[in-house]
Amino acid sequence: MGQWVYTFGDGKAEGDASQRDLLGGKGANLAEMASLGLPVPPGMTITTEVCTYFYEHGESYPPELETEVNAALDHIAASTGRTFGDAEMPLLVSVRSGARISMPGMMDTVLNLGLNDATVDALAKNAGDERFAVDSYRRFIQMYGDVVLGVPMRLFDERLEDLKAEKGVELDTEISADEWRKLIEVYKALVLEETGKPFPQDPRDQLWGAIGAVFGSWRNDRAITYRRLHQIPERWGTAVTVQAMVFGNMGETSATGVAFTRNPSTGEKALYGEFLINAQGEDVVAGIRTPQDITEKARQEAGSDRPSMETALPEAFAEFKAVCDKLEGHYRDVQDLEFTIERNKLWMLQTRSGKRTAKAALKIAVDMVDEGIISQDEAVKRIEPASLDQLLHPMIDPKSEKVLFAKALPASPGAAAGVIVFSSDEAERFAAAGKPCILCRVETSPEDISGMHAAGGIFTTRGGMTSHAAVVARGMGKPCVSGAGSVRIDYASGTMISNGVTLRAGDAITIDGATGEVLLGEVPMMKPELSGDFQRIMDWADRARRMKVRTNADTPHDARTAREFGAEGIGLCRTEHMFFDPARINAMREMILADDTEGRRAALDKLLPMQREDFTQLFEIMAGLPVTIRLLDPPLHEFIPHGEEDIKEVAEALGVDPEKLRNRARALAEFNPMLGHRGCRLAVSYPEIAEMQSRAIFEAAIAAAQKTGAPVEPEVMVPLVGLQTELEFVKKRIDATARAVSEETGQTFSYQVGTMVELPRAALNADKIAESAQFFSFGTNDLTQTAFGISRDDAATFLGSYLRESIIDVDPFVSIDVDGVGELIRIAAEKGRSVRPDIKLGICGEHGGDPASIDFCETVNLDYVSCSPFRVPIARLAAAQAALTHAKAA
Ligand code: PEP
Ligand code: MG
Repeated sequence: MGQWVYTFGDGKAEGDASQRDLLGGKGANLAEMASLGLPVPPGMTITTEVCTYFYEHGESYPPELETEVNAALDHIAASTGRTFGDAEMPLLVSVRSGARISMPGMMDTVLNLGLNDATVDALAKNAGDERFAVDSYRRFIQMYGDVVLGVPMRLFDERLEDLKAEKGVELDTEISADEWRKLIEVYKALVLEETGKPFPQDPRDQLWGAIGAVFGSWRNDRAITYRRLHQIPERWGTAVTVQAMVFGNMGETSATGVAFTRNPSTGEKALYGEFLINAQGEDVVAGIRTPQDITEKARQEAGSDRPSMETALPEAFAEFKAVCDKLEGHYRDVQDLEFTIERNKLWMLQTRSGKRTAKAALKIAVDMVDEGIISQDEAVKRIEPASLDQLLHPMIDPKSEKVLFAKALPASPGAAAGVIVFSSDEAERFAAAGKPCILCRVETSPEDISGMHAAGGIFTTRGGMTSHAAVVARGMGKPCVSGAGSVRIDYASGTMISNGVTLRAGDAITIDGATGEVLLGEVPMMKPELSGDFQRIMDWADRARRMKVRTNADTPHDARTAREFGAEGIGLCRTEHMFFDPARINAMREMILADDTEGRRAALDKLLPMQREDFTQLFEIMAGLPVTIRLLDPPLHEFIPHGEEDIKEVAEALGVDPEKLRNRARALAEFNPMLGHRGCRLAVSYPEIAEMQSRAIFEAAIAAAQKTGAPVEPEVMVPLVGLQTELEFVKKRIDATARAVSEETGQTFSYQVGTMVELPRAALNADKIAESAQFFSFGTNDLTQTAFGISRDDAATFLGSYLRESIIDVDPFVSIDVDGVGELIRIAAEKGRSVRPDIKLGICGEHGGDPASIDFCETVNLDYVSCSPFRVPIARLAAAQAALTHAKAA
């Protein structure tokens, strides 16, 4: 049996920062800090393996666990001189959850565990402060009652409010020791009433209750939602960290706070954070009291009149500053720290790599290269590719007119406009209806995660830059403005008021997470400037990567956007999208309604010049870069109307009998269109369609080459091929068309014919198919659909259960299923190359823009990935990271 419990403290530790999987992020970094000799209260971490065991054994513990926990408690006792339940020197601990990566949404911390009717007096005596001791005890009953015993916090709050009303006071600080004692009795009675059992007095019972609650919280709804949104596997489990208490609420020389070694919003190299004097940890993040600045500089910039930690607690500040420098230097990255000062003595409670906005991440990485701390390659690896998305989002157009409603903290950058909603449920409803909204709350809590995800932006009236709303919004890449103290939200009436202006649910606002402004109405936006740090990182990424990055683009607009983002060609032009244009769709319908080849050709003749024009533009924009154009793919019924109204309207426009249209719709109906008459099967039935499209491609290539002077070598792609003979059939028509165009125009040009690999049969017979194909493009949307036998259009209805039940870790339509679909790609790549060593291999399914899938593409040596325009920068960075990762491994 392995070791279930790891201890730390007194300058040493079992385990270190590399053991996050086992100890959780919190436990691993506490161990590391202890080993570095930093002031860390002694403690123990119960491993994530216990969590796994817990769920695999009907929520029970390994038999050895109790002995190991007791030994660790002895270790803490030896270090602190305190033991559980001791009438003179009682040991008090905090109990916290800690997964591999931080997961807001799981169990909150339990502080002051070990207090009971007897030890509270010892604490009072030791501290020389009775009020502090009884306040700590009532906080403990409240926290423990809420998170471990399941007594709603609301009920405790109501009792506290009653007490305040009775005494005619407003602040907790005005409540005397005796009154706290009375409240403790009220709380205990409440616990008895709600749970049927007295509040546990034995510290060991308290501890096991808290440990059980942490493991239980791994499967609470909030945690499950968070995991789903962040693709965190269920099986990882959480660790539990139990640590000797230190007190930030022992008077005016005590404090507690959180800080970042650099500004997590802008990346500026300056210690940044918030603290509260005479408070316990949760007070800072809870947003109940507005915190103070850590440094004097930050205080001045914020225009705050409350003292900074630098002036209020200068010695502790100096030591803290030194610890920050040491930790940043040690981890070579920005740290996010939690600390407590107990009577001027600094204690470190947590360090972790700081979550930051994409803008800050770029600045920090570039600065650290310039400071000589990390290399360019490391800088490239430091940026989360998906986070670039934040930078590619619109900003408020500075030229637009703005009417300010309120100004508060710029908690998470980017701008968003939408209508006001006051609840997460409403936000989800609006999102489902495709209407942008801004979630406006006094403060957010983990229950709001789904609503925050659904909203375009988040606005809160309470809480600082490290409040729940701010931290979660930054993680999600959503604009957020927080802590707008001047705004009053009234949920009951559905209004918010600032400076006499009243806004109601449904009114439009715009928030700017970069400036903290809340503006009336929907303000015009503009595209972001992609230069500076972004450009430098992208240059380094481009130097590091091996794979090319192309784009999926069907329109000149998309193609231009993609070029601006650095696309190196088009990997997929879905020609059918061009036919949906209202000006063209009727020509397409004429073709579908035609009774014979002649009729079809006549209709196709109308489409030819339009397609030629489209392709010419794409070739011009791509200026000599490769362009892959796919022949018609979707089933024809997608182009004809189905509703009776539409049928009549279209019939009239086309001058045909509606009955003819109805009959055609009926004839084209299929039980299983995705596996029906589509892809190259259309070209087999109607070769004239493929001929028209190839002609348009070749004539456009000649026209574009003449215009730009750069040779164009189009890549003609045949979709949904399963048999070499299918491809050969279509290829013959394409080649014949090329010869005809060449003869008619007297121009020579080169082109390639290739195929999509979207069917398992094609992958398994890739060697034969490669005899006819000069390139393969993996259509992983269809390949996933056909490999799994899961309809890509219906998967959403049941894959959620698969994720919830841990049957799969990620949605295979989002991230490549390496073992199945990936294996088919590997086989196809190998077989293709065995016949045609220089065959060009790429991917153009949605996975082409997914960083994890891009990493896989590197391992099978694809030549390029192709993705939607806005994902091009993400793919460039992900491709660079993949190259760096696998170059090292090789
Ligand atoms: C694919 O199947 O992966 C693909 C790119 O084609 P489409 O999504 O158009 O079917
Ligand atoms: Mg496809």
